[in-house]
Amino acid sequence: MVARNCHIEKFHASYLFPEIGRRRDAFLKQRPNAQLISLGVGDTTQPLPTAASEAVIKFAQALATGDGYQGYGPEQGALALRQGIAERLYSCDIDPSEIFVSDGAKCDIGRLQHLFGPSATVALQDPAYPVYVDTSVLMGRTESYNVSTQGYGGLTYLPCTAENGFFPDLDAADKTDVIFFCSPNNPTGAVATREQLEKLVAFAKSNSSIIVFDAAYAPFIQDETLPRSIFEIEGAREVAIEVNSFSKLAGFTGVRLGWTVVPKELAFNDGSKVIDDWRRLSCTLFNGASNLAQAAGIGLLTNQGMQEVETLVNGYMENARILREAVTSCGLKVYGGKHAPYLWVAFPGRGSWNVFQQLMDEAELITTPGVGFGPAGEGFVRLSALGNRRDVETAAQRLVRVLKTPSFQPA
Ligand code: PLP
Repeated sequence: MVARNCHIEKFHASYLFPEIGRRRDAFLKQRPNAQLISLGVGDTTQPLPTAASEAVIKFAQALATGDGYQGYGPEQGALALRQGIAERLYSCDIDPSEIFVSDGAKCDIGRLQHLFGPSATVALQDPAYPVYVDTSVLMGRTESYNVSTQGYGGLTYLPCTAENGFFPDLDAADKTDVIFFCSPNNPTGAVATREQLEKLVAFAKSNSSIIVFDAAYAPFIQDETLPRSIFEIEGAREVAIEVNSFSKLAGFTGVRLGWTVVPKELAFNDGSKVIDDWRRLSCTLFNGASNLAQAAGIGLLTNQGMQEVETLVNGYMENARILREAVTSCGLKVYGGKHAPYLWVAFPGRGSWNVFQQLMDEAELITTPGVGFGPAGEGFVRLSALGNRRDVETAAQRLVRVLKTPSFQPA
């Protein structure tokens, strides 16, 4: 028999959503008529923009003709799509040759682990999108919860708490090779300011680190002065890679399309260019995103498509406002939800799983326990605003009803 990959045994974070599913199934077994509403998983719910769907239909029909058929495309993605991304989605200069189209940000985060290899040390925000941890663990890194033990196991958590405004204390953080950083953040909904990102870039520069900046939620930023890309920060081109996605931008979670920007300036310590290795790796581990998904992306990056994106994003942000108002009206502290479709609700002194269970039992709501995103998430639950309006309104009414009861109220 073949030995099991010892690194898979060490997965922690991936147990979050299966455990939520297990508890939901157990609940429904006892109460089969319950009207559960999920504010849990961050999946999108609203229809695909017609500019995208119409483009796919046209492209698919052409594929069935002799003249329109296309086989393997360029691994880096269609030039028209890369040009569209550079022009429509960035306010700073990004050359299309620095954009690598992918089948989603998650897949590229996994492939980036291969770029850095098993010996690189990694730091990440705590709490964080679980994929940074899982893919690091798969590379053989192990978790170390304490900043003072940095380097031990190769994986360092940088606590992001209400006290530090959900931005890590970089003065207390030691050098690591790679820093995963997500803004607007999943799960806290916090968005980093320009000054904070300048600090992060300066920190990476002084430690010769590379930042992997996850901007999957950039379209939700409502304030024009807040940076939507790490490359809006001076000097970032020498220290950062950006992963990004059409998933939350336009409901492409099922279509599957994303991209990664690797600037030409970015180099390893031997002077070799990161972009060259990434190109090589992309050709090895990936044969390019589906041309149908790319056609959808090209259709989306038109005037009509961008208008539809605005409507989509505004709808989700209105959901976030409704949920925020419901929670704050009960006297509870809520973070996020202003520049991100996630709200991070504090239940001081209580366990996240405990709150999760009570909200399911008493309000028939599914949330996500904060501790599932990392130890600093204990005492919080995440609410997703990516649902249908009617569900969100009903969920808000239920929240108001239960959160006012003494067991949810701060001591
Ligand atoms: N990055 C973050 C922070 C996410 O929350 C998600 C999905 O929830 C992703 C990346 C995944 O994006 P994609 O659907 O493009 O793989």
